[in-house]
Amino acid sequence: MGVPRIPYTLPFPPPKIRPSNAITLSAATAAIADFLQSRNTVLLTGAGISVESGLADYRGEKGTYRLNQKYRPIFFDEFVGNHESRKRYWARSFIGWPLMAKVQPNRTHEAVSQLWGLGLVSHVITQNVDSLHHICHPTLPTTELHGTLRDLICLTCRTPYPRTKFQQTLACLNPKWADFLKTISEAGASDNNNSLEKNIKRNPDGDVDLPGAPYTKFRYPPCPKCLEERPRGSILVDADGAHVPNRGGPTQAILKPGVIFFGESISSAAKEKAEAAVKSADGILVLGSSLATYSAWRLVRTAHQRGIGIGIVNLGGVRGEDVFFADGAQGTRVRIEFPVSDVLGGVVQELSGGFGDWDMVAKAAGSASSLGRYP
Ligand SMILES: [Zn+2]
Repeated sequence: MGVPRIPYTLPFPPPKIRPSNAITLSAATAAIADFLQSRNTVLLTGAGISVESGLADYRGEKGTYRLNQKYRPIFFDEFVGNHESRKRYWARSFIGWPLMAKVQPNRTHEAVSQLWGLGLVSHVITQNVDSLHHICHPTLPTTELHGTLRDLICLTCRTPYPRTKFQQTLACLNPKWADFLKTISEAGASDNNNSLEKNIKRNPDGDVDLPGAPYTKFRYPPCPKCLEERPRGSILVDADGAHVPNRGGPTQAILKPGVIFFGESISSAAKEKAEAAVKSADGILVLGSSLATYSAWRLVRTAHQRGIGIGIVNLGGVRGEDVFFADGAQGTRVRIEFPVSDVLGGVVQELSGGFGDWDMVAKAAGSASSLGRYP
């Protein structure tokens, strides 16, 4: 079935905090520390944890949409079936990529890495496509439920390609766009506040809004492997190697970003890995997600049905949480409404024995960059 990424448009009801005293940051931190110490936990993360890295969230603090009404993500069928849609997608992605590639993990990713070092977390399942978990803690098993922007895949031969190199190919095929991008980057770099960059509206998938841009002139290449190996004439290109659609039948060798689009099913491998992680854990801790997507919500439902621990740290209500937190639910239930970075930062401090040990743990993990930013 299709997996739309923003299926709900109304805010979810506000949460009921558990335990009831967890209305101060210290009590909330203690509750999550206790939750993590008492079981083998899998983490489920969402867009809320990447906000501190400068990425947009789908929802605001009270569960309302932050995105303007004009934002309409591309659908899978549209991308596969329409050359003009692919031009538009890749043009926006071309401009958005350098900003996306600069994004760095934040305090939450670093705290997750420390929890892994302390042996308290066994697996991360993320809805995010920004690769920040992958960058911050490459050895902690992580399942990217909705794929990743750092790779592309050929829809014909399934060969993966790195997004970084593809950016260079797009620049060669679109010199005017490359000049435009250079102008934006230079203007951003010469301005300490990067106000020009900030004024370009970034969407959660890393592309940008460019009203009135000449998308139809944008060019993109087909899969190099297919072009070399498939029969001559089955894949059409112009004199510079840009893809030309096949008017007599379906176009082959289409390169698509490694993310799951609206209307596209999540990969069965990712789904199975995520389910296996939840089934082998004693608890699931949701961080910065309203579980609006079915694929994420279903994992928490599995945990609920198994009667294992469920913890949620999220600003704003979460889809179906009244069911997970209903009276008589089996297993420990913790519901916190504070910023994830504050809670997890405090948990790591508490569980690693204060600043001294925390310093040691951070150094052992090769990352002391955020020390001192914790209260
Ligand atoms: Zn191919």
